[in-house]
Formats: sequence, structure tokens, C-alpha cells
Amino acid sequence: MRKRKVRGIARDTLQFIMEASRSSLPMEFAGLLQADKEIITEVLILPGTESSRMSALIRLYMLPNMQIVGSVHSHPSADLRPSQPDIQFFSRSGDYNLIVCPPFDESSWACYDAEGMRRELPILDVDFKDDMFDDAN
Ligand SMILES: [Zn+2]
Repeated sequence: MRKRKVRGIARDTLQFIMEASRSSLPMEFAGLLQADKEIITEVLILPGTESSRMSALIRLYMLPNMQIVGSVHSHPSADLRPSQPDIQFFSRSGDYNLIVCPPFDESSWACYDAEGMRRELPILDVDFKDDMFDDAN
């Protein structure tokens, strides 16, 4: 398993996750988290359901330059506790695994390490839009 230090998650990225989770209802939303300069800024969306998540993960690991630090998925049931298959998946996906639930706001989520233990993950304000649109006009 890859160990990467992460300082937090970008607020925009967390908002994207919440939007995607809300629009996936009643299905769950799942993705892998990528970090840039120790901050989680990207979500790679995983197709399928809980049972197919592991095979999607393994396929993604075969791509080059994947800097995956963990995962995210939603629990439409509003229970933030990881299931047994979740914890198995976390042991492969990394040290920062988010579970989000309704009402999908900045307080309705939790982060777990590779063993399924709850951990802190700060929400950071990152101005990464500036870099992208500087030359737009
Ligand atoms: Zn789950």
C-alpha cells in the first residue's frame, strides 16, 4: 500500500463529492481520492456498486501516475460507519477514506484510515481555480 501524507481536503473537492453523492441517490456514489501537494483535490469516479468497487480499484492501479491516497463513497442510509467490505476496501485504497451521508453538507461525513479507524481530515480553502483560469481573458 502506498503511504502519502495528506494535510487536508480542498473545500471545493468536498463540495463536489457532496453534489455527486446527492445526485446519485438512491444509489451510492464512489470514487478514489488523489492528492496534489499533500491536499486532496481530485476524485476519480468508480463505476458500480459496493461489490464491484475492488475490481475497479485494481483496474485503476494499473494506470500510470496514479497518486491515490484513499477513497470516498456515500451511504444513502445516513449511517457513517464503515461496513466490513468497506474496511476491506480501505486496506487497499489508502489512508484517507471518506464516507458521506445525507444531508450531504460539510458536517455529514467522516474519514477513516486503512484499518477503518476514524481520523481527522481538515477542510482547506485552496485557490486552485486561479491557476486554471488566469489566462482565460
Ligand atoms: Zn460503505
